[in-house]
Amino acid sequence: MTATVNRQVLLVEKPTGKLGLEHFKLVEGAMPEPKDGEALLRVHYISLDAANRAWMHGATYRAAVETNTVMAGGGIAEVIASNSPSLKPGDIVFGDTGWQDYAAVPAKHLTKMPRLEPMTHLLSIYGIAGLTAYFGLLDIGKPKAGETVVVSVAAGSVGSIVGQIAKIKGCRVVGIAGGKDKCDWLTSELGFDAAVDYKDGAIFKALRAAAPDGIDVYFDNVGGDILEACLAQMNLRGRIACCGAISQYDGAPSASGPRGVPGLIVVKRLTMQGFIVMDYMAKRDEALAELQAWVASGQIKVREDVIDGLENTPQALIGLLAGDNRGKRMIRV
Ligand code: NAP
Repeated sequence: MTATVNRQVLLVEKPTGKLGLEHFKLVEGAMPEPKDGEALLRVHYISLDAANRAWMHGATYRAAVETNTVMAGGGIAEVIASNSPSLKPGDIVFGDTGWQDYAAVPAKHLTKMPRLEPMTHLLSIYGIAGLTAYFGLLDIGKPKAGETVVVSVAAGSVGSIVGQIAKIKGCRVVGIAGGKDKCDWLTSELGFDAAVDYKDGAIFKALRAAAPDGIDVYFDNVGGDILEACLAQMNLRGRIACCGAISQYDGAPSASGPRGVPGLIVVKRLTMQGFIVMDYMAKRDEALAELQAWVASGQIKVREDVIDGLENTPQALIGLLAGDNRGKRMIRV
């Protein structure tokens, strides 16, 4: 039976402090009609990303999400009708489907994906998370065997892959994560050499103990005080891959660190570079081939956190910002 309603989660109010359920509303809209050049999609999985919260602040690498519109978000979807010669029914695609059951999206904004099992890997290891980890670490971090690599949000979707790639490259790997359980998981399951619980306080001292030879590469997912602690322990000619600033997303911008940045960068001849994974899409196939080989050989373990039901998307994002997830969180619609 063809569906006649499209459930949608709208952002009804922009949060000024912490994100809450009151900022969203589940509604039933009409089925979208694909225009010329568009495909009609059935959304299967919606990616939950810390960046979803950052998009509510204003324009970033994409336009801000406005109130009373469908909440934006990446999704894996199946084409059910197409008004574009580049896509046909049955094709699997990735794109900004938004938080809804069905979406009509211009084909030129969709990326055709392979049909593979489990399909969830298209959002985790073979999706934005895996590619971000791969390019940010290898192209900007440039780790060499024997060096020390530190990654923050280490139990998250990007960080858990960064640490495992750094191990494959022969580095000493230190993860920074919230709570003992996540830290234990990093060392016992994912092969990290050490893990630092930033919620335990005294991050500077704990980091010194975990990385006694200093830090050569820091993969920064968090900004703020953790970045400050890592900066202070960088080795000469160290590299910092600036991937995200999750400590600044949920609430008003804070007055936290990093302090003392310019002096440190000069004296230690550091390279600190931001990046957006989309910049690397021309090299995507090369990265995917290597990631697939590492997964097949068991050198990378993929952790996913799949929650059922479109109606649970707001709570799933709120929980992610509070640290509930391990690995890649997503909604099975
Ligand atoms: P994720 O899986 O969504 O994990 C979110 C985790 O962030 C939470 O579980 C929590 O873990 C941690 N967190 C929340 N608030 C924190 C705080 N104040 N301080 C420290 N940690 C906090 O994360 P992800 O998808 O891997 O994303 C990581 C970063 O990469 C984000 O900043 C994201 O914006 C960025 N990103 C960038 C690109 C790019 O192209 N540059 C692409 C994708 C993602 P704990 O329990 O450990 O606190």
